[in-house]
Amino acid sequence: MGVLFATVPALSALPGLVHGFEQRGRSEPGESREEGRARVRAALDRSGRLFLMRQVHGATVLDAPWEGTPEADAAVSGERGVLVGVATADCLPVLLVDPVRRVAAAVHAGWRGTVAFVVTRAVEALLARGSRPDDLVAALGPGIGPCCYEVGEELRDAFGPEGEDFFRAGPRGRPHLDVRAANTRQLRRAGVAAERIHHVDECTACHPDLYYSYRRDGPGTGRMISFVGYRA
Ligand SMILES: [Zn+2]
Repeated sequence: MGVLFATVPALSALPGLVHGFEQRGRSEPGESREEGRARVRAALDRSGRLFLMRQVHGATVLDAPWEGTPEADAAVSGERGVLVGVATADCLPVLLVDPVRRVAAAVHAGWRGTVAFVVTRAVEALLARGSRPDDLVAALGPGIGPCCYEVGEELRDAFGPEGEDFFRAGPRGRPHLDVRAANTRQLRRAGVAAERIHHVDECTACHPDLYYSYRRDGPGTGRMISFVGYRA
């Protein structure tokens, strides 16, 4: 029981903030997703209540807290004790923090969410609440890397000419996509300073000991929860 998670020093240094990118080390073999969520919630219990969404690969940003499990792919919290999280297994988890206004956001960005600019929408939601772009700190967690993320040619069309930089030639003739690079560019263009964008730059598919991977293990694989917020 319990939770193992990766962190970035820049967020760990912020007083009152809790954050993490779950790693699979403490999950029980055969654990259901509900059991996994309950385990993470219990581990965070002293810091606050964790709010998760029903993720649909869109770009809707919600304000936490809420009732039930609404459909969305990004969430913002400005309340102490209200933690927001996303569940992933290859998609990119992105955490955003404004340490001045003590507001935080969690974002689920797979290729569809990236094409829909979900990270950009999340930054805009923070700015609408009064944050300044210069104050924002971002952390991009583990996700499938361009080493392993072979995709179809049709994704080039989805990303458009601006997205050409995010594709590289794969060994089998099909393109490989760099979702991390695409989201990093969105953050930069939204005004987040380069030196305030941090990474746990590990490929979920390359590290079966640390991470679940949808691409490697199939749709039945587990999910890892990434979370952020100010403790109660
Ligand atoms: Zn890889």
